Amino acid sequence: MIPVTTMQGKTVAVFGLGGSGLATARALIAGGATVAAWDDGAAGRAAAEAAGIPLVDLTAADWSQFAALVLAPGVPLTHPEPHWTVKKAKAANVEIIGDIELFCRERNAHAPDAPFIAITGTNGKSTTTALIAHILREAGRDVQMGGNIGVPILALDPPAKDRFHVIEMSSFQIDLTPSVNPTIGVLLNITPDHLDRHGPADDLELAMRNYSAIKERLVAAAEYAVIGIEDGSGTIKSECEDIFDRLDGAPGKFAFAFSRQRAQTDGIIWFDMPWLKRIVVNCAQGKGFLEVLVDLSRATALRGAHNAENAAAAFWACELLGIPHDEIGAAIKTYPGLTHRMEEIGRVGATLFINDSKATNADSTEKALLSFPQNVFWIVGGKPKDGGIESLRPYFPGIVRAYLIGTSSDAFSQTLDGDVAIVPCGTLDVAVARAAADAAASGLSAPVVLLSPACASYDQFRSFEHRGDTFRDLVKALPGFKPRETP
Ligand code: ADP
Repeated sequence: MIPVTTMQGKTVAVFGLGGSGLATARALIAGGATVAAWDDGAAGRAAAEAAGIPLVDLTAADWSQFAALVLAPGVPLTHPEPHWTVKKAKAANVEIIGDIELFCRERNAHAPDAPFIAITGTNGKSTTTALIAHILREAGRDVQMGGNIGVPILALDPPAKDRFHVIEMSSFQIDLTPSVNPTIGVLLNITPDHLDRHGPADDLELAMRNYSAIKERLVAAAEYAVIGIEDGSGTIKSECEDIFDRLDGAPGKFAFAFSRQRAQTDGIIWFDMPWLKRIVVNCAQGKGFLEVLVDLSRATALRGAHNAENAAAAFWACELLGIPHDEIGAAIKTYPGLTHRMEEIGRVGATLFINDSKATNADSTEKALLSFPQNVFWIVGGKPKDGGIESLRPYFPGIVRAYLIGTSSDAFSQTLDGDVAIVPCGTLDVAVARAAADAAASGLSAPVVLLSPACASYDQFRSFEHRGDTFRDLVKALPGFKPRETP
């Protein structure tokens, strides 16, 4: 735990008593603050009570006594409407911050040189965070990983000179962290997401600008900024590129891109799949030479061009932290991957089973289908999102059969009709059994049973994790199952 000493002797309101709220309350108390904790839900209040955290009904409290309101990131700060606690705090002139702000203040006060790596982006945050943490751990460093992934930041060990905090930050968390000042800020990409939380519903352009500005703050305040400016299809990430250009004059900024042309610029990692490369300009002779950084073909948990971006970001970050190239390269190859994101579960005979349950929309599933361009026995469906799977049409030729589950079945049958053979299954257990049997009987040399639903899970499961865990259990129970060999 990180005792929050910067609030010692003060009274702090904590609203939102999920995992991070409870950890915040504990850390504030340990640092000598008085906590007034509250939640709109009875479950959160009961959890606090069970943990011995003092509850105060903030609807009726005197807000002039509070030094700050620490808000959980899921609670609306501005849109669609500021939460009632936000209105009360503003009316009483009480600052509104998040748990990562408290971490930054502790670091500034006690260990300003402690390495702090903050990772943001619309997609790829967790993968990149876990990959950086893995590389640093493999290199023998003391690593604390958390934030938007796994452990709440204030439940980690305190910042210290040679301790690396690798922290995933969502836009909501950055918004609540005015003093964010990482050693390295990583920005992977920015595409429209959660815009309802960032601006008015009738002005999506403004919401997008606001969203982008929040992400920009993380890299603008960093000692070194690592930014993705072009994606695997050669499309420039215009928001990110603008941010990169605006950082001119900043002490350190580094980018990764996909085209060789862009890589001529000093300080850009370039992907020539399956390699990460970089052009290094030899100042003495004015000539460039090509440096091959990593061969990603052996990194089986980082399939696909999107994961090459994540690997490039991690490479930059770890190189800037002084980890030797060969150690970074070796660790990228042994990265075990995260559950539910193109997770390789294992094989039955020649058939590979992949759990991509985290793919809750077509954009994410596209990444999986790009990574497995043929011989796919695709388990798809659930609670559909706007637009369905129409955007995945270019990948239909690589799909042998689609096994439909969930409430999207009728709609998806219509989209697939005539292009892909459909097997209506209803539930995941039926889909796994049928896809496994068909893949085994197909005679193909490398069939893949892929759960990448392109849908939310809530029609049949508690969460995408529950869906993915169920899939894994079903696959493991198949006769002849062999787990993935760890690299
Ligand atoms: P996040 O934590 O930002 O949600 P994850 O690392 O959990 O991201 O990956 C979630 C999904 O996002 C992956 O399954 C993949 O489909 C997609 N994805 C991952 N990395 C990238 C990237 N660099 N660019 C675009 N999409 C990505």
